[in-house]
Amino acid sequence: MIWNETIECMPREDMRKLQSIRLRQVVERVYHNTPFYRRKMQELGLTPEDIQSIDDIAKLPFTVKQDLRDNYPFGLMAVPMSEIVRLHASSGTTGKPIVVGYTRKDLSIWKEAVARCLYAYGISKQDLVQVSYGYGLFTGGLGLHAGVEQIGGTVIPMSSGNTQKQIQLMHDFGAKALACTPSYALFLAEAIKDSGIPRENFQLKVGIFGAEPWTENMRKEIEEKLGIKAYDIYGLTEITGPGVGCECEYQGGTHLWEDHFYPEIIDPETLQPVEPGHPGELVFTTLTKEGMPMIRYRTRDLTALHYEKCACGRTAVRMDRILGRSDDMLIIRGVNVFPSQVEAVILELEEFEPHYLIVVDRVNNTDTFEVQVEVRSEFYTDEMGKLLAMQKKIADRMQSVIGLRPTVKLVEPRSIERSQGKAKRVIDKRKFV
Ligand code: ADP
Ligand code: ZN
Repeated sequence: MIWNETIECMPREDMRKLQSIRLRQVVERVYHNTPFYRRKMQELGLTPEDIQSIDDIAKLPFTVKQDLRDNYPFGLMAVPMSEIVRLHASSGTTGKPIVVGYTRKDLSIWKEAVARCLYAYGISKQDLVQVSYGYGLFTGGLGLHAGVEQIGGTVIPMSSGNTQKQIQLMHDFGAKALACTPSYALFLAEAIKDSGIPRENFQLKVGIFGAEPWTENMRKEIEEKLGIKAYDIYGLTEITGPGVGCECEYQGGTHLWEDHFYPEIIDPETLQPVEPGHPGELVFTTLTKEGMPMIRYRTRDLTALHYEKCACGRTAVRMDRILGRSDDMLIIRGVNVFPSQVEAVILELEEFEPHYLIVVDRVNNTDTFEVQVEVRSEFYTDEMGKLLAMQKKIADRMQSVIGLRPTVKLVEPRSIERSQGKAKRVIDKRKFV
């Protein structure tokens, strides 16, 4: 199903024209209303007249997270505070929170974006959606909530936590879709199994998962355990929240709503644009935002963009799965390692649960790399030989995929802490030295 066919399937030529008009407008606005952007443009000798089409975007300066912190709390607003009707703040996965403000129109664009996602997943007016993302300053809960109301569906505003109640109401109310982090979805799957309520007594069919990186193998795992189809939803507080883009039924990448959020991929070292299809850092410009527009905001998320038309009929650009954030990348003994690579290996092997923890330390000036992973109950044993063989299997596979051999610590099923929001997969003790 397609919520806004005119936009989602717009010929690329026309989309470029629309983006050009909107870019001119937003540049004009920030130049006159936000001293921070005016100063940065002036430093480069730019005036709004230099930006005529979307191709001129590369002339504009970048914005980084530190700029939001330096202008904390309201320094980047482009409207008087009396026009701001809502504030949100990032969950602070990587440092002190940052604050964003929305006008009434910003909120309506956000819910339009989420509505497009819900339709793409096949969710409509008839359906109940359980929103188990946190409500509050975090954008996940209220973002999904507004989208469900927009399509006329029925929202169950659960928020995160209280797992027993989640399961009870999901069952009693007959939720068709569940929105939460992929790690919490796994946790719920275990809890549903423990509840003893037969799976066929639930109506659940669709998962709306995002807010943290997850691999294709993790998708399979969740789909199998929950007996649903699991879709990606992507977003970040700085740009709007969840719903910047989502997967369609073909799941060949995450469509981005580029009439509002214009994406670019750059090389994070040289800051130069990267050819379509090649990986790099994702950068967004908000083309329509009033409250706190972002000009060329560097997300630090690493991915690639594909512009070929999708089998679903949408022309909206598609983004590969996020490999991770550049600041999630661990450098261990000189080798670059993303937690998602470790996840991909663990989930390839049938002996292990999708619950793991990476512990990095420095001992005698050498980095140590430990991977703790749960063994599936059917493989759990106290026979030394078998345990050693399992450890070796994982270490060998990581050596060949990542180029680095971890110390593998096998732990009992259910001993690694479960997450109700964004999972914590890494403990890097070197940072505290
Ligand atoms: P914080 O920066 O505090 O975590 P946000 O909630 O704004 O706050 O997090 C946005 C970030 O979460 C994105 O930049 C990205 O790294 C990650 N993220 C969100 N959705 C996805 C997704 N579907 N896949 C991978 N990563 C995601
Ligand atoms: Zn598609």
